[in-house]
Amino acid sequence: MHSTASCCRYQFGSALQLFTVFLLICLWNNNHNKLCEARPQTVEHEKITVDKKCGYESCPKTKPNMLNVHLVPHTHDDVGWLKTVDQYYYGSQTLIQKAGVQYILDSVVQELLKDSEKRFIYVESAFFFKWWREQTPELQEQVKMLVNEGRLEFIGGAWSMNDEATAHYQSIVDQFTWGLRRLNDTFGECARPRVGWQIDPFGHSREMASMFAQMGFDGLFFGRLDYQDKMERLTTKSAEMIWRASANLDEPAHLFTGALYNQYQPPPGFCFDILCADEPIIDAKHSPDNNVNRRVDEFIAISRNMSKGYRTNNILVTMGEDFHYQNAISWYKNLDKLIKYTNARQENGSNVNLLYSTPSCYLKSLHDAGITWPTKDDDFFPYASDPHAYWTGYFTSRPTLKRYERVGNHFLQVCKQLTAMAPKIAGQFEPHLSFLREAMGVMQHHDAVTGTEKQAVAADYARRLEVAIRACATNTKEILNQLTIDTSRNTPERELGKRERRWATGPKKEYLFKFETCTLLNISSCAVPEQADKFTLTLYNPLAQTVTDYVRVPVPNVNYIVKDFDDVTIETQFLPVPAPVQDLNFRKSSATYELVFTATELPALGYKSYYITKTNGNNMKPVPDPPNQSSFTSIGNEFIRLNFDTNGFLVTVTSDGMTRIVNQEFVYYEAATGNNREFRNRSSGAYIFRPARDQVRSIALQPKLKIYRGDLVEEVHQSFNEWVSQVVRVYRQQRHAEFEWLVGPIPVDDGKGKEIVSRFNSDISNADIFYTDSNGREMIKRKRDHRDTWKLKLLEHTAGNYYPITTKIALEDDTARMAILTDRAQGGSSMGAGSLELMIHRRLLHDDAFGVNEALNETAYGEGLVARGTHYLIVGSSKKNQSPTTQAIERFTQLQKLLPAWSLFSNAENISYEDWRGNFTNIYTGVGMELPANIHLMSYEPWHENEILVRFEHILEKDEDPDYSQAVQFNVKNILTNQNIVDMRETTLSANAWLGDNQRMQFVPDGPEVAYNSYGVYERSLDQQLLLRADRPLAAAKFHNEVERDKREEEELLQMTTNRLKFNIYEAEELNRERAEKLRKVKVPIRRLHDENMKNDDDRFLIELSPMEMRTYILTIEKEN
Ligand SMILES: [Zn+2]
Repeated sequence: MHSTASCCRYQFGSALQLFTVFLLICLWNNNHNKLCEARPQTVEHEKITVDKKCGYESCPKTKPNMLNVHLVPHTHDDVGWLKTVDQYYYGSQTLIQKAGVQYILDSVVQELLKDSEKRFIYVESAFFFKWWREQTPELQEQVKMLVNEGRLEFIGGAWSMNDEATAHYQSIVDQFTWGLRRLNDTFGECARPRVGWQIDPFGHSREMASMFAQMGFDGLFFGRLDYQDKMERLTTKSAEMIWRASANLDEPAHLFTGALYNQYQPPPGFCFDILCADEPIIDAKHSPDNNVNRRVDEFIAISRNMSKGYRTNNILVTMGEDFHYQNAISWYKNLDKLIKYTNARQENGSNVNLLYSTPSCYLKSLHDAGITWPTKDDDFFPYASDPHAYWTGYFTSRPTLKRYERVGNHFLQVCKQLTAMAPKIAGQFEPHLSFLREAMGVMQHHDAVTGTEKQAVAADYARRLEVAIRACATNTKEILNQLTIDTSRNTPERELGKRERRWATGPKKEYLFKFETCTLLNISSCAVPEQADKFTLTLYNPLAQTVTDYVRVPVPNVNYIVKDFDDVTIETQFLPVPAPVQDLNFRKSSATYELVFTATELPALGYKSYYITKTNGNNMKPVPDPPNQSSFTSIGNEFIRLNFDTNGFLVTVTSDGMTRIVNQEFVYYEAATGNNREFRNRSSGAYIFRPARDQVRSIALQPKLKIYRGDLVEEVHQSFNEWVSQVVRVYRQQRHAEFEWLVGPIPVDDGKGKEIVSRFNSDISNADIFYTDSNGREMIKRKRDHRDTWKLKLLEHTAGNYYPITTKIALEDDTARMAILTDRAQGGSSMGAGSLELMIHRRLLHDDAFGVNEALNETAYGEGLVARGTHYLIVGSSKKNQSPTTQAIERFTQLQKLLPAWSLFSNAENISYEDWRGNFTNIYTGVGMELPANIHLMSYEPWHENEILVRFEHILEKDEDPDYSQAVQFNVKNILTNQNIVDMRETTLSANAWLGDNQRMQFVPDGPEVAYNSYGVYERSLDQQLLLRADRPLAAAKFHNEVERDKREEEELLQMTTNRLKFNIYEAEELNRERAEKLRKVKVPIRRLHDENMKNDDDRFLIELSPMEMRTYILTIEKEN
């Protein structure tokens, strides 16, 4: 994987040596280190084969000449959906849903203990550890035994089964790291999941697969893919494949992936849960109800039919559903009988063999089959479950919850870093931090950040996050106070003299700053600056680079002065809080202005404080430009200039020496409504985006404008109508423009749901091609009305062209490029030449019948929900000869917008400027040398005792910039100088296994000579049931006889192209395969950031990152006494 040998691998020749070193590390850590007990080690691995039998070694034997049917008992436990997390766990609110997770684990464990043949898999660590904590030590021992024998197997293992469209990679990695750590700490190697299990998320991202591979997973199984794609794959036996999940990383990002046949449900008629109505197996010899023969016949037929879609003589049959196994005996008793009577037929020549199994045992059988597999290079978005149900609405649903989740991630990183840097550790730090980690883990769930939960559950998620942020804020407050009063420490960076770390020189003061977070800054409201005449603002920069940013502080007047720690008065500018924000009826704030100043050179991984005083002076209030009806208006700086026409719309953007047409407008789609009884009567809802027609409606023809100018920022305040307004701004030194939109309450008194879109139209000739990010990392190439691996037939032109935008959407031609960055996940597309659009808000009056049973009609304070957010527009040259390229600027901006400086306010009425300046440390950095702009210190957090977890990532792709796409080599000891690092070992991405010990199963791709034909099935064998069952509540839906033309179209749509001639005529245009192949050939040079003379040139601490690489390490720290 890496050209630099990992620090831990290269020096050990044999397992014996490794064992010795391992022992030494343990002894040296006082045998107190959880790491040594629980971390997977090569040696421990070998020991397991003697003492324990779990994982692949515990797999049941299959029969070589038979169809092996792997029955996988499982439960799908949503970490909140129709009920809250706790309601699901305890089983309350049974009238909403009969589901109690505690009973599932209670019941399953008892059944597993009775019979060593039985298997069960468990996925959601959030629920498991809630249960685990409540068990007696005796039962815990028994559960450990079940885990060690592979009878209870953890798969997935993250805190929740995260969504893949709207979740950001940083949060995904965090929630896997946390769930897997808890499993590792509790059970050790036998609880290490080897298989990803994303059975319910609504489409699958390529980055998720890449991360699974980098976390050491051997394979991934999932349930939902486009119904056309699914039929095609089952017909051509390509539902199991090698996903080449990164265009930059190659083999370390390859992941064996399988699409499940029944999503995750049991085959029709074989649901044996107490929640189901299917017939049990009745085997009393003389019972008139005896059904053994018939049921076995049915099951054999189902199995044979299913196996036609797959390549080996193994199939995986999911035996479970949402919250099944509350009374496990009902499932297991019938499965026992099904196995017994079906296998008894083998004596009479049947070749069907049923066995209790797990997804990893199934994967092992596929691996052992020794055959080759097809490959895939793009992703599984968007997901459609029928011709009218494109699951593209949830990309935007609940826009404010989606933003709050991103704020949660921002603060989690701040809290982790400060906790890791705390001079004095307090007992409550760790539980507070874990509380926020867990709240964020829950937020990633596929019914949380997606916005597809009931309203009451959404409120519970927001409440949980709020409480957790407050808990972690007590850490940051205490640690910042420790750092500000610290006057004595002798630190390596002082010796190095590299970076400023200005210690207070005066006597140590007993003063506690409040370091308060203002949660309402998004509506320009904050108590401290509104009330206090003197206050301090501390800006904590979570990036490992020095940054300069613009700060906005809501204030009631315009007479404030800002001073830094060095008695320098900072230049300020005042801007009015936009009228539509001031008019929000729920906004209780006296702030009518925003104080803007430039926070220059915020230290990397550190803070800088400012002292702000209200004066008696009469400063000039900001006045808008006089109305100008006759000519263009423009705002901007030397990098970017935006021009507005006399109607008030943006018309052109000048940047990189060229002027391009770029206009921006707000439009909306009217939501389709219907009774959901037939596919064509589908309503737009929380999951589904379905406009009544493809044409959009405009919101205003002539927005009202107010233009404010000053030395720091120029702003255009646009007011479109009573419920849509926007501030467009360009700061002095920035290369992007901000579009801060305010939308809501969306009117629905006309009885129509509305989906609001911000659209940017340009004259860039993108030839139907655009790019969307995958969870915030690599870009995926899209083409309108196209999918890479099958011939798409679309009845929903708009919804079927929507993709998840976690952070960025872009398009370009030979000369110019336009990109929009988002501050939260949104749906987006390019619906016309040169055009990009993002759906920012939606308010609907009907449910889409996928189970929520509520319309997505969010209200707050008695009105429709108001949402505020920002798009960052970057326009520039598409050429890549000069650094920084437009793409590099996009990457840097993306990171700075994800993790800007966090503002902490303290009332300073009892402390004078001189006192503050003389006695407190008001500037601090946690690094000795900052990282280059293309490297992100992605994780920096306390781990086990005397350990810190760090993760570095390269944020550019191979072809994005001539300089910044270079690989980078640096010495960690030169960066993290305020930690006394004595050892560093690399782990997998999820930090639950040493990288050197991580052996992944290898799968072999089809050679060029293996045409799909060799596996093709040339009859129309697929049961239409498959499509009709594609989702839960619509099981009974039928295609309607629509008007003749439509009917033909739909029938054609359902017909699979199974004729080989037909298939060969269609030559797939695999845009992403092409791109990956191009990138594979790119060789990147290395930039070295260390030199031979530097004192920390110990190469044990050297690391190298090539484009898009993420590397994770556990640092061992020696604390000073
Ligand atoms: Zn689910």
